[in-house]
Amino acid sequence: MIKYCDLKKINDRYEPQLTEAITRGAQSGWYIRGKECEEFEKNFAAYCGCKHCIGTGNGLDALTIILKAYCEMGIMQPGDEVIVPANTYIATILSIIQSGLKPILCEPDRESCNIDPALIEKAITVRTRAIMPVHLYGRVAPMDEINAIADRHSLKVIEDSAQAHGALYHGKRTGSLGDAAAFSFYPGKNLGALGDGGAITTNDTALAQTARAIANYGSHTKYIHIYKGVNSRLDEIQAAALSVKLQHLDTDNERRREIAHKYLCEIKNPLVTLPLADSEENHVYHIFAIRTAQRDKLQQHLLEQGIETLIHYPVPPHRQNALCEHSHLSLPITESIHAEVLSLPCHQAMNDDEVKKIVDAVNSFKP
Ligand SMILES: *Cc1c(COP(=O)(O)O)cnc(C)c1O
Repeated sequence: MIKYCDLKKINDRYEPQLTEAITRGAQSGWYIRGKECEEFEKNFAAYCGCKHCIGTGNGLDALTIILKAYCEMGIMQPGDEVIVPANTYIATILSIIQSGLKPILCEPDRESCNIDPALIEKAITVRTRAIMPVHLYGRVAPMDEINAIADRHSLKVIEDSAQAHGALYHGKRTGSLGDAAAFSFYPGKNLGALGDGGAITTNDTALAQTARAIANYGSHTKYIHIYKGVNSRLDEIQAAALSVKLQHLDTDNERRREIAHKYLCEIKNPLVTLPLADSEENHVYHIFAIRTAQRDKLQQHLLEQGIETLIHYPVPPHRQNALCEHSHLSLPITESIHAEVLSLPCHQAMNDDEVKKIVDAVNSFKP
């Protein structure tokens, strides 16, 4: 059986350094807001090409804390609008709601599956304060167009970079392409911790200071609380593990691209639409999503051949009970993507035989 994401195999690649780092964290006697986190924040900021990095408890919190910080800074007010792609993981949208802001769902481009810049401008109102593009599946959103719209309308641009650690855009990394960015280190992400973790990156010093305080109970100084903060910090053991894995991120992403290129060249089944190829490393293939009208049958066929696949995502956010206030929206592109996508295994610990087996299995599918 080829697992969709084999975290055991993935993390075994970093031994013995990973176990050494965890042991160092465990035996240090200092578990939160210490040297390991500081060191990782410094290195991840440098990696992204940003001045600041703030570790958080997870990716959802990273997104939410950015927005709460803008609210505390007076840049956003309750009820202000944030434009967000309609086809994303629900976390992106929840962060907006949990900050007291209003998500405005925008259809994606059918080919890239990323937010369609042509539709963003139509969604702007007097209440719009920000655009929150998602680098979905690991492909960088069209940031030049998005930043140009944001400039014209004085909006903030907040990257949801949870799926795109290390992806490049004109030579710059995600995390440095807007005003602020949020990362998730959920174990299955391209840079994954051994539990939950997240980070904010930004070049905006005032935002960084506010966000750091909000993540720490609204406090810069112990027992002095200036904001209604939250408790969301990257702990020392996760930070130590991430420091080890960060050193391998570029090689890991390169291997994902290599596998993706094999799929792109060798999958030849008229029933299957392949994703657009990457250019200039603007895709780190967190997810390799193919599309087919026969999605459920193809998934069954692959399972019978010993290949596990997943669907990202089976139900779009506006069709979730949790977001029923958006259920009236007509988002046909988002819905058709959700009905057709199927994610093939694509990660750094896969070998060439597994890749070939998957190619052959997709090519042999007929309804
Ligand atoms: C994983 C993910 C998140 C949330 O990250 P968590 O660490 O699970 O909170 C947010 N946005 C997107 C697009 C994601 O894929």
